[in-house]
Amino acid sequence: MPVVCCVPNCDSNRSRHGPYVTVFRFPTNDKVKSHWEKAIGNNYKATPSSRICIKHFEDKYFRGTSANSRVLLGRSAVPTLFMPKLIFEEPYLTFEYLCKNYKQLISDKDYYANITDDLICFYKIDCTAVPTITSSIKIFKNMEFEIFKRDKILPRNLNIRFKRIDEKEQLLYILQSLEVFKEDENNLLAADTVAKIIESLNHIAKLYPDHKRKIDFLTDQITNLINLKLTYRSTTISEACCIFQQFPSAYNYLRDQNILVLPTSRYLKSILANELNGTF
Ligand SMILES: [Zn+2]
Repeated sequence: MPVVCCVPNCDSNRSRHGPYVTVFRFPTNDKVKSHWEKAIGNNYKATPSSRICIKHFEDKYFRGTSANSRVLLGRSAVPTLFMPKLIFEEPYLTFEYLCKNYKQLISDKDYYANITDDLICFYKIDCTAVPTITSSIKIFKNMEFEIFKRDKILPRNLNIRFKRIDEKEQLLYILQSLEVFKEDENNLLAADTVAKIIESLNHIAKLYPDHKRKIDFLTDQITNLINLKLTYRSTTISEACCIFQQFPSAYNYLRDQNILVLPTSRYLKSILANELNGTF
């Protein structure tokens, strides 16, 4: 019996006598995978055996066939046709959503959370001597916020230009900024300057959507100047994979000489290996 499609009300491969319909595994990339799950709605969580059939993908997502005649889907393909929820969107960050999902949202940061009915507070504790809260952020029900370094409230205009947190990226940006803040003028200045550049880049990205890839790449280069923990957008990762695959020694040169901030070759190899395993 061929694998059935997990989209509700889709009858692909459900009948023994019907024609076989091509199905695809869920992507390994967590972000794309979550888009697929969101498109199905109802808090769907994919399992390793979940499949979605070809009827739900627009033509623009197909990338021909593989050597063994399997239909190939593009990396960013998302099911949009005949879905219970026709639009998929990154969840707009609300207070309720944040309270419920903060563990997932800030999973790679060592922050604790304290939640009350109208306040959520993330804080980081240094336990090397007397346990001390080193940085914290207070988010109110209307998603306005205050940030603190030890017991000092930080002026908002220091490097954060938004008044409310509406997107996950903004929350991560604040947490990241707090990491690099030392009570030292130079660091504050650097964070401030970087924030201004990023703001300008975001502005340019809106004016020139066609150049989004370049701007994403630049944004990573600039933010990683002051990030203690390097982070990369999917654009940088996919470009890095392409360069590394074609010119590994050039890639390592760019990285080792610190000309560009790029993911390690080991990390790229793991991504490329996953792709070869037939994610799509
Ligand atoms: Zn289907």
